[in-house]
Amino acid sequence: MAQKAFGWAARDTSGILSPFHFSRRENGEKDVTFKVLYCGICHTDLHMVKNDWGISAYPVVPGHEIVGVVTEVGSKVEKFKRGDKVGVGCLVGSCRSCEDCSNDLENYCPKMVLTYGGAKYFDGTTTHGGYSDFMVADEHFLVRVPNGIALDAAAPLLCAGITVYSPLKYYGLDKPGAHVGIVGLGGLGHVAVKFAKAMGAKVTVISTSPNKKDEAIQRFGADSFLVSSDQAQIKAATSTMDGIIDTVSAFHPLLPLIGLLKSHGKLVMVGAPDKALELPILPLIFGRKAVVGSCVGGMKETQEMIDFAAKHNITPDIEVVPMNYVNTALQRLSKGDVRYRFVIDIGNTLNSTM
Ligand code: NAP
Ligand code: ZN
Ligand code: ZN
Repeated sequence: MAQKAFGWAARDTSGILSPFHFSRRENGEKDVTFKVLYCGICHTDLHMVKNDWGISAYPVVPGHEIVGVVTEVGSKVEKFKRGDKVGVGCLVGSCRSCEDCSNDLENYCPKMVLTYGGAKYFDGTTTHGGYSDFMVADEHFLVRVPNGIALDAAAPLLCAGITVYSPLKYYGLDKPGAHVGIVGLGGLGHVAVKFAKAMGAKVTVISTSPNKKDEAIQRFGADSFLVSSDQAQIKAATSTMDGIIDTVSAFHPLLPLIGLLKSHGKLVMVGAPDKALELPILPLIFGRKAVVGSCVGGMKETQEMIDFAAKHNITPDIEVVPMNYVNTALQRLSKGDVRYRFVIDIGNTLNSTM
C-alpha cells in the first residue's frame, strides 16, 4: 500500500514549483520513514527543475539535503529507531554487490538511484526529494545527524558537505602543507573552505565576486582570495597550488585554473555546468597535471563527514526560508544572491491544505 505524500514539484522546464500530491512506497522491512524538517536548496535542484542536463522526468520534487526525525522503522532495521535525527543526501539506492558498492562507494555504483529527478527505485516507483512532508529510504542510505549540530545547518552537509569533503580526502588535500584552491564561493565552495581549513590546508579562494573577499578570509578562514578576472593576481599565483576544487555551476575557462596548479597538481571538477568546458591539453602534458571529477561520496564517508563537521564545529552559513518562498529562492540562487545556502523550513511551513 503506497502512502500519500505532499510536496512541491516542478512540472516543466519553466522550473516553477507548485504544491503536489503524490505517493511514496510503504515502509518496507529495511526502510525508515522520517518526517522532513529541513531541506537545503542545492544548485543541482536548479539544474534539475530546468532540465539543464537533459535527465529530468517531470514532475520533479527536488531536494537532496534532507534532515528530519524518524517516525517508523521496518522490522529488520538495525541502526535507527523512532525519534532519531537522520539525513538523506543525493542517493537512496545502489546494487549493494558491485565492486564500488563493496568498497563503500555506492555513489559510483552503475545502479545508483538518485534521491529525485525521475530515477526509478528497484520496485519501479519514481523517487521524489525532500521538498516534501516525509521520506522513505532503506536504512543503508541514511546518516545519523550527530547531537550538537543544528538540524537546519546540518542539511546542506548532506550534499554540499560530502561533495567537497570526499575529494579533499581522496586527492590528499586534507593535510597541513597542502595548498588548496577553491573556485566559486557558493554553497559548495564556502563549505569547502571550512573543511579544508579544519584539515589544516592552506586555502585560496578563486572567485568572480570581489565583494566576497572579507567573508572568505575573516569568516571562513581562507588564507587568500583571488578575483578570477584580475589577471595580475592570477599570474602572481601561478604554479602554487597542489589541488583545486572547482564548484562553478556555469561555463568558465579552465586554462587559468590549470596554470595555478603546481606540476602534478589536480583540478577536481565538482561543479556541473550544462555546457562542455574547453580542455587545453598542452599545459596538462607539460606539468603532468590532471583534470578529474568527483561525485558526492559513499554512505560510510558521508557519516564520517558529518561527524567530522560536528567535531570541528563546521556548519554551513544558511538563510532559512519558508516553503512558499522556494521559487524566489531558486531565482535568487540563479543570480548568485545567497549567503551561502538556502534551507527550507519544511517542518514548520509546508502546509498540505494549500
Ligand atoms: P552555488 O551556490 O550557485 O555556487 C556556485 C558558485 O560558482 C557561485 O557562488 C559563484 O561563486 C560561482 N559562479 C557562478 N556562475 C559562475 C560563472 N559563470 N563563472 C564563474 N563562476 C561562477 O552552487 P552550488 O550549490 O555550490 O553548486 C555548484 C555546482 O556543483 C552546481 O553545478 C551543482 O550542480 C554542482 N554539484 C555537484 C555535485 C557533485 O557531486 N559533483 C554535488 C552538488 C552540486 P563566486 O561568486 O565566488 O564566483
Ligand atoms: Zn546537491
Ligand atoms: Zn553497486
